Amino acid sequence: MDLLLKKKDNWRIRLKNMEIPISIKNDSFLLHCLDKIISGQRINLSEGLKLYNTQSLPALCALANLIKKSRFGDSIFFNDNLHVNTTNKCVLACRFCAFRKGPRHSEAYELSVEEFIHKIVPFANNIDEIHSVGGLHPQWTVDHYSELYSKIKDTFPHIHVKSLTAVEIKHISTRSGISVLETLKILKKSGLNSIPGGGAEILVDSVRHRICRGKENSAEYLEIHGLAHSLGIPSNCTMLFGTVETVEERLIHLDKLRIQQDISSGFQCFVPYPFLPDKTRLPEAQLATTSEIVRIIAVSRLMLDNIPHIKAYRMNIGDHVASLCINSGADDIDGTVGHEEIMHEAGSKTRLDYDKTQLSKLIISSGQKPVKRNSIYTKFEEYTEIPKKIIKIPITY
Ligand code: SF4
Repeated sequence: MDLLLKKKDNWRIRLKNMEIPISIKNDSFLLHCLDKIISGQRINLSEGLKLYNTQSLPALCALANLIKKSRFGDSIFFNDNLHVNTTNKCVLACRFCAFRKGPRHSEAYELSVEEFIHKIVPFANNIDEIHSVGGLHPQWTVDHYSELYSKIKDTFPHIHVKSLTAVEIKHISTRSGISVLETLKILKKSGLNSIPGGGAEILVDSVRHRICRGKENSAEYLEIHGLAHSLGIPSNCTMLFGTVETVEERLIHLDKLRIQQDISSGFQCFVPYPFLPDKTRLPEAQLATTSEIVRIIAVSRLMLDNIPHIKAYRMNIGDHVASLCINSGADDIDGTVGHEEIMHEAGSKTRLDYDKTQLSKLIISSGQKPVKRNSIYTKFEEYTEIPKKIIKIPITY
């Protein structure tokens, strides 16, 4: 069980005592859902669909925001992190992916361990997390990643290593001729602290077959995360929407994550993000509107009662939409990031030069309270605005 969730498991009591916004009071179905959540019942798939399709988006957001406030008050979390990709070489060719290159492509690259370390050096004093994913390299085995994580830990002991998607872990285990469990044990021993969760796409195999044939199937994604959780490696989980899936399939995805979390309890955060089309090979993608992004954030807050954090991933959705999402159920906007390729190759224009002060301003201007967190949500610092300056105050939850 997530430590923070344990501490926060009286959020339903707080919710019961909170003032209900008038927009919710005027909607009998939203009141029904609120009552279910207060009493510990779950929003089922048909209720989730009805919520998603509600005419009153402001009321849906108000309900999701109420649940978020019952768990975290006005706090919106962010962290000090840096994204460094290991390689863009990939033996797969998912149709939504703008990042991968064939191993012989002129823009294909792979970072040696030394080159990777060199990328961290300019940021090392200002970050406490490295977020690193990459393509499925045709040669690398578990030895390469093991050496990389050991070197990061030796050089920057204060930095948390959040790395690898489920399909990377599966690929590394296959390349190395060992099981996924054994792979994870070796990587954990070398310094892997958590798993970022990318690659879930939509956990419906008929959809995966159309957009990412050859990738791990839905059950494998969940199994790999479950194995990581069994070793005490926490992870996030994601959803890529706006490709070819139906709304019902988005909700099935949420339900599968909720079931897995009941089993293994290691998901810290759910990170939904819409498909970005630049340089991809998915012309039939429906694409997601801003309203759909906000609806997904809100419904995920209402359905995922056992995953504490919902992230408005600004690297994908941008600062304007993230500002809406943190008033619609999301409690996290990710971090300073510094460098990002996967979303920017696909068309993201989100700025990469935001520091803590600018992230704090984004959160404060949305009417909420900026709180810097560590990677596993156990240490917190509130950032408070005084005239022309943001100051930090350590806090505990
Ligand atoms: S999404 Fe990942 S596995 Fe798929 S092509 Fe891109 S890098 Fe490769």
